[in-house]
Amino acid sequence: MEIYFKEEHEIFRKTIQSFIEKEILPLVDEAEEKEKFPVELFPKMGSQGFLCIRVPKTYGGRDGDKIMECIAIEELTKGSSGITSAFTTHGGLATDPILRFGSEDQKQRYLVPAVKGEKIGAFGLTEPDAGSDAASLRATAEKRLGGYLINGTKTFITNGPICHYVIVAAYTDVTKKGSGINLFIVDRENPGFSVVKKLTKLGHRSTETGELSFDDCWVPKEQMIGDQEGGGFNQIEYTLRSGRISTGARCIGLARSILEESMYYVRNAKKQGRMVGRSQSVRFSLAEMAMYLDVMKAITYRCAWLYDCGKVTMKDAAIVKLFCTETLCKMAYDGLRLQGGEAYLNSNLMQRLLRDSRLHRIPEGTSEIQHLLIFNELGI
Ligand SMILES: Cc1cc2nc3c(=O)[nH]c(=O)nc-3n(C[C@H](O)[C@H](O)[C@H](O)COP(=O)(O)OP(=O)(O)OC[C@H]3O[C@@H](n4cnc5c(N)ncnc54)[C@H](O)[C@@H]3O)c2cc1C
Repeated sequence: MEIYFKEEHEIFRKTIQSFIEKEILPLVDEAEEKEKFPVELFPKMGSQGFLCIRVPKTYGGRDGDKIMECIAIEELTKGSSGITSAFTTHGGLATDPILRFGSEDQKQRYLVPAVKGEKIGAFGLTEPDAGSDAASLRATAEKRLGGYLINGTKTFITNGPICHYVIVAAYTDVTKKGSGINLFIVDRENPGFSVVKKLTKLGHRSTETGELSFDDCWVPKEQMIGDQEGGGFNQIEYTLRSGRISTGARCIGLARSILEESMYYVRNAKKQGRMVGRSQSVRFSLAEMAMYLDVMKAITYRCAWLYDCGKVTMKDAAIVKLFCTETLCKMAYDGLRLQGGEAYLNSNLMQRLLRDSRLHRIPEGTSEIQHLLIFNELGI
């Protein structure tokens, strides 16, 4: 399945693969065990042009396309899904709104250092009482003294504990449900901003996730993304649509690992003196895994191509996220089943692949929300 790749994509894939092997793989086990993201990777990734792949050269970026970004994400996730979370959030959710809707000044102050890995970004939408229904968020941005006073709490924020800035969603007009929301860039050192706590998780332990608080946190009006009040919801939707395609690429990376681990086991394992791979049910499981992986690649890269053509819809991206994340979980359970008790041990990679796979059904809209998004565009 090579139809969407040009020679430059293939060269890029090899380049990032060798970087991952040399710079990332040696750090994975310790980062997972200590639940600490190796922040030194940000400038290293930045110096190679692996962060924020779609940013134009004028802002120091690589000027790549969505297909190239998906290749990077697929390969990084193949190395470590946990560590990749930090990069996908940074290169997508935390920079896309600035790239697409931000002022020139915001691009210079945030995008340029983000591309180099000198500033780490986070994206704060979810709140303790508002997840799937983003319009019900409670954070407010009240107009005051040439700026806005932000109050609220954001939770489950990827990179929250290590970020230099966070893009926050807050109501500038609480009377307009959904349409009264704006996005603001808040610097870590802004008075009133604090990291309340770092959260521990089932999977993706090598990426840091946190709860953030905004307590009378004043920002000048220049920190608002876009030049008018309201309209933040559209910016969020635009950002999430791209993120859902990236999730497809993440699933491909994990699915490749699951298939590889399963094949290795089946090639080598013997039970009661008989090779496990002689069982028809085991062969069928591997065949299904290979089929799922192929379909994941086909729909994800097709959608990335549609994105690059400016033709992708919300439904296209939702289909990618729903299919890839649900299928990935099935693959992960099958991978665990094939190996019996062995795969349940912490020393076995399969248990981590299962824990990491499960996450992808949640952020950027759960599977249930993807069903609703697809249904909404059916025209019934
Ligand atoms: C590790 C991790 C990292 C994350 N990173 C970020 C981040 O960087 N920034 C950020 O803003 N958020 C982040 N999130 C939050 C994530 O986007 C939310 O968890 C997700 O949107 C779901 O919201 P919720 O957890 O409040 O669940 P809820 O919205 O409370 O949903 C609970 C259950 O109800 C179902 N449900 C809800 N509404 C409906 C409906 N209308 N119809 C049918 N079923 C429904 C859901 O599918 C789910 O199964 C992260 C979450 C995790 C776990």
